[in-house]
Formats: sequence, C-alpha cells, structure tokens
Amino acid sequence: MRKMTLSNGKTVEVECLSCALTSGLIEPDGGVVIETEHFQAHQDVAYPIKGLIILASKRHIKCFDELNEEEKLDYINILSKIRKAQREVLGIEHVYYFYNEDTTHHFHTWMVPRYEWMVEFGRSVESVRPVLLHARNEMNDEENVEKVMEAIGLLTNYLNG
Ligand SMILES: [Zn+2]
Repeated sequence: MRKMTLSNGKTVEVECLSCALTSGLIEPDGGVVIETEHFQAHQDVAYPIKGLIILASKRHIKCFDELNEEEKLDYINILSKIRKAQREVLGIEHVYYFYNEDTTHHFHTWMVPRYEWMVEFGRSVESVRPVLLHARNEMNDEENVEKVMEAIGLLTNYLNG
C-alpha cells in the first residue's frame, strides 16, 4: 500500500493510483472527461497544460500486449475520439503520446498537446520532461489553472454531449 496525499489535503492509502481512479475510489481533479467500458480519461492537473489528458485502462495491466481484443478496439476508439475533441474544442494541432510499461501505477497513456511556447524546450521526446516541469513549476498560477479547468469542461461536454 502507498500513502497518497490528494490535492484537497486528504490522505488515502492505495495499492495502485490508476486502480483507485478508474474504480472511482478517488475522483480526479476536474472530474472524469470520458469513460468507456474499459478506459477512463482525466486531465493530469499536476501539469497545468490545457488538454493534457491521461487515458487509463480499468484493468490492472501494465503492458500493451496484455490488452485483450475488446480493450484494443475500445482503446483506439476512445483515444482517437479524445484526440478529435482536443482539435475541435481546443484547436490543438499536434499531440505527443507517451506511455511507459514500467509505471508504478498501471496502463495509462499521456496525451500531451504541443503548444507554441514549448518550442524553446526542443522537439519530440527530448522536450517532454522539460515541458512538463516548466508547466508544473511556472504555470501553476490561478489564471492558467482556471483556463485548464475550463478546457476540461469543454472537452467533457464535447465528449459526452
Ligand atoms: Zn491498477
């Protein structure tokens, strides 16, 4: 078990953060953006970037080749649906996808939108970590966080409307 402190200050003990989120034990900040039978999507609010979505499986698996046929289909459908929503409601032209199998949680894909301000951190995979750190350390002001929350609302409405 791992002790986790939530953003509201509450402490919970969970075996796996992704299990806790997808089972509804923990409500992600900003809420669930969309949910299917096998997956759940939410904004990672630790990194205040508009439209940065985490897509997690509901089953506790870690590797891509553990997905069953039904999950594979569900995954590509929901992933492309979220991608379309990012384009339609937030005008996001490009997205970087990141997913690591040695996660301490379980199967989840990061969808990191590419914005103009990120260019100074380089291109492609090398820029991902500095971009995320910059967002977490320099963009956590009230005004930007509000914009991020607004974007969550727009995506949620679009995807569930
Ligand atoms: Zn899990």
